[in-house]
Amino acid sequence: MVRVTIYNEFIHEKTNTNVKAVYPNGLHEVLKEALCDEEITVRTITFDNIQNLTKELLDSTDVLLWWGHCKHADVPDETAVLVQNAVLSGMGAIFLHSAHHSKPFKLLMGTPCSLSWREDGDREYLWACDPSHPIAEGVDRYIKLEHEETYSEPFSIPEPDKLIFIGNYEGGEVIRAGCCYRRGYGKIFYFQPGHETYPIYYHPMIIRVIKNAIHWTYNPYRSDIDCPHIKRIEE
Ligand code: ZN
Repeated sequence: MVRVTIYNEFIHEKTNTNVKAVYPNGLHEVLKEALCDEEITVRTITFDNIQNLTKELLDSTDVLLWWGHCKHADVPDETAVLVQNAVLSGMGAIFLHSAHHSKPFKLLMGTPCSLSWREDGDREYLWACDPSHPIAEGVDRYIKLEHEETYSEPFSIPEPDKLIFIGNYEGGEVIRAGCCYRRGYGKIFYFQPGHETYPIYYHPMIIRVIKNAIHWTYNPYRSDIDCPHIKRIEE
């Protein structure tokens, strides 16, 4: 079993009626329901109980999903460092949508991770750059989203190790929408879709990609990276 933990800040769903209409119990509950299967178990955590996002929780997490927006600055620095260290020692991590500006993602990337944006409900095509990659399995050529917040280049992330999707909006913009990284022993996937006012996480192909990414980022090897003094192995 792959042990997934979903962090969703769960603020907009309680304070904005448009968001509440789409995700009455929080988008983490929709993701949990869609992702749980015979190979994946899911726990959830929200901003209100972020104190429970401990090293012990991360030690028993194979893949962490992160959705955040308005509470990025209020996530404790120590929590972001715990996530960074867990990834470096082998935990998988998937950062969704506005998590591009979350503290742990920026720590792991080392760049501002800023982009241009516009909220007009544009149609988006997510084009698969490499349909043979495990994360794009089942997608064929593209995924069409009827409405999504527009994210646009320039996106100040490091050059991805592998680019899986490019997003294109009806206003003409493009964004690197599915990006793979490796940091330490851990694998990271950034996936752009998921603005809170649109039912993105009910889309079967978006769930398919997230599931594929869970399996791709899962690494059963887990070890802290240290700097030991060693003895020679042969005299
Ligand atoms: Zn958004």
